[in-house]
Amino acid sequence: MTKSVLEACAARGHEQVVFFNYPDVGLKAIVAIHDTTLGPALGGCRMSLYQNDEHALDDVMRLSEGMTYKSALAGLPLGGGKSIIIADPNIVEGREALLQKFGECLNALSGRYITAEDMGTSVRDIMAIRAKSKYVVGTDPAKGGTGDPSPWTAQGLFVAMRAAVEHTSSGERSLKGKRIAVQGIGHVGMYLVELLAKEGAIVTVADTHEVLLKRAASEFNAAVVAPDAIYDVPCDIFSPCAIGQTVNASTLKRLKCSIIAGAANNQLSDRSVYETIKSKKILYCPDFVVNSGGVISVCAELAEGGPNIAWVKERVDAIYHTTVKVLDESKRQDRFTEEVAIDLAKERIVVAKMGRKQ
Ligand code: NAD
Repeated sequence: MTKSVLEACAARGHEQVVFFNYPDVGLKAIVAIHDTTLGPALGGCRMSLYQNDEHALDDVMRLSEGMTYKSALAGLPLGGGKSIIIADPNIVEGREALLQKFGECLNALSGRYITAEDMGTSVRDIMAIRAKSKYVVGTDPAKGGTGDPSPWTAQGLFVAMRAAVEHTSSGERSLKGKRIAVQGIGHVGMYLVELLAKEGAIVTVADTHEVLLKRAASEFNAAVVAPDAIYDVPCDIFSPCAIGQTVNASTLKRLKCSIIAGAANNQLSDRSVYETIKSKKILYCPDFVVNSGGVISVCAELAEGGPNIAWVKERVDAIYHTTVKVLDESKRQDRFTEEVAIDLAKERIVVAKMGRKQ
């Protein structure tokens, strides 16, 4: 990103980007608030090291924009935001003090941004932030919170896969016998593999953690390949559940799938891959459409009287219908699925803005 911060805000439509720097506790953080038309900006707090600050800023801006579309399409009363703490996610010493300081930083935003768990952070970290700020969700279930959102993300992705299979195979929505290649079997990926195994899918997995691979093979009968080999596995569905931008010009030359549906945010390297995906006749299920199970679950924590699990289940299962709508509209308009999904999300925001003016 060679643009200035304000130019980047103008290009993506961000309302606010805030930088925090407290070297005495090692806290260097960015909070990006993309859009608060539908409600407070909610999105996870990622802890990660970056090549440079420019990459960090680009990441948080892209992710927060995606959160706006994700919550809008999931029908939630939330806007889009995201935060990153630029630090080694494995740090132990001083971790609590750093996170508590981050909690104080959130208070300065007066609830315009609400944080949650993300890559590099855990429920335990969330509780450290919670010690200083109420603007946190996904807190400890033992204390009335919704905890780890990953099982819900996996469930939403699973029903979205059914919608995609139904779309490509005239009515048959079962995943039984479908070959599914899962890249990354961490929090979401492992729950997904479990659901797929129960359904009778033929699963291949890749990860960089040996322990996770052994578990997927022994408990769920998954075939294991080396991390880079996952792009060469012939399959019905390629499911990126690890990191962003793994669907790019180079991997698209290798992918042998008819559907891409995964949990990872920002799976596509950029918009230039739209045409390649279309020309390869791959059905791409936009990440922010299919991975909203997590934000739905943590949103429930904001309800008066605490989380209502039946509401969460109903909303997560409705990801199936949202996916059907996006795929059908994309076919009808002959436009790429992600463009159509962004337009549907923006429509909800525009309607809300118009309602306010009346
Ligand atoms: P995680 O960190 O628990 O799991 C990611 C896994 O990917 C890890 O096991 C890691 O070893 C593996 N991995 C990393 N690089 C890899 C590579 N090159 N090849 C293969 N495996 C690799 O994260 P998670 O919570 O499971 O989330 C996965 C993705 O889904 C992330 O992009 C996250 O932002 C997104 N997401 C998660 C949730 C959620 O509820 N946790 C919700 C929405 C989106």
